[in-house]
Amino acid sequence: MKVTDHLKNANGKTLFTIEILPPLKGENIRNLFNNIDPLMEFKPPFIDVTYHREEYVYRKMPGGLLEKITTRKRPGTVGICAAIQNHYKVDTVPHIICGGFSKEETENALIDLHFLGVDNVLLLQGDAIKSESKFVAEPDGHKYASELLEQVVQMNKGKYLDDELHIADPTNFCIGVAGYPEKHYNAPNLKSDIKYLKLKVDMGAQYVVTQMFFDNNKYFEFVDLCRNNGINVPIIPGIKPLTGKAQLTVLPKTFNIDIPEALSEEAEKCLDNTAIKEVGIQWAIEQSRELVKKGVPTLHFYSMGKSDPIYRIAKELF
Ligand SMILES: Cc1cc2nc3c(=O)[nH]c(=O)nc-3n(C[C@H](O)[C@H](O)[C@H](O)COP(=O)(O)OP(=O)(O)OC[C@H]3O[C@@H](n4cnc5c(N)ncnc54)[C@H](O)[C@@H]3O)c2cc1C
Repeated sequence: MKVTDHLKNANGKTLFTIEILPPLKGENIRNLFNNIDPLMEFKPPFIDVTYHREEYVYRKMPGGLLEKITTRKRPGTVGICAAIQNHYKVDTVPHIICGGFSKEETENALIDLHFLGVDNVLLLQGDAIKSESKFVAEPDGHKYASELLEQVVQMNKGKYLDDELHIADPTNFCIGVAGYPEKHYNAPNLKSDIKYLKLKVDMGAQYVVTQMFFDNNKYFEFVDLCRNNGINVPIIPGIKPLTGKAQLTVLPKTFNIDIPEALSEEAEKCLDNTAIKEVGIQWAIEQSRELVKKGVPTLHFYSMGKSDPIYRIAKELF
């Protein structure tokens, strides 16, 4: 079932949803299930599964020379989606990225998903390769999420890359895209970012999921700005509880977001990460309560591989 249908069927009630990471290469899928089993108590109607592109690692060769190896540390997004749908009978939303994919590889991945009965995709530019300072598109791939979106929109109309295909079964993907209440790090300003978000929605995106934020006002202002600019699709707030001291600097740097003064001051007072985690959980509970009061479509939690803080938050809300 499509994300948009889940939202419609909720009749204004706020849903509980999560984003998970595929396990590290070599790990058993049972670990992933063990991690998310407790969250099933809150009946997520859909689960997002991130996509992780290849990275470069260097291995020491005999003689001291370094060999550069390309490896994907968290493969399996498509397989995990199918496994979750099979195991929990819950819909999934695989993230599909431009980076590292040719158009042909994208098409093949979408065909796999279509055959597997996955009805949703979240379309993204994707992160840059970890050791590279900026995103570089594949020569025969897409540069922006909007270009990837155009490919999916065409497939939904039965138009594949080979326009001489005699049989081209239309896919039927519900399309989500990303939005940034505090602006994407590459955008010169929020207005420009909103312009490109509107382009994605006008081209066929049916809902938006936001980057994490710790100050609800940033989300409310973003929603107002979107509405004033003609973006009228559901805007799902992304929430991540603070769980460690390092995140006070890593999250702002990585995601171009602010940690509110009140939260960072509380966290600074903590003696260890266990105490910071408590502060983070309480903050996220307050954030979530206000968001539910304002009638957001779903509280969408970034699990980043750890479900226990999310369980604590959800238990207070659902
Ligand atoms: C909810 C969510 C989930 C995510 N999941 C993943 C994941 O699973 N895997 C992963 O690798 N990354 C993921 N990311 C990170 C994301 O891929 C990065 O933030 C990426 O840098 C931008 O992706 P986008 O789809 O928003 O890009 P785009 O919409 O392509 O925008 C990228 C930048 O270019 C600008 N822009 C857009 N279109 C144009 C244009 N036509 N001309 C000029 N400028 C333009 C935008 O303003 C923005 O600054 C996720 C992010 C979010 C918010």
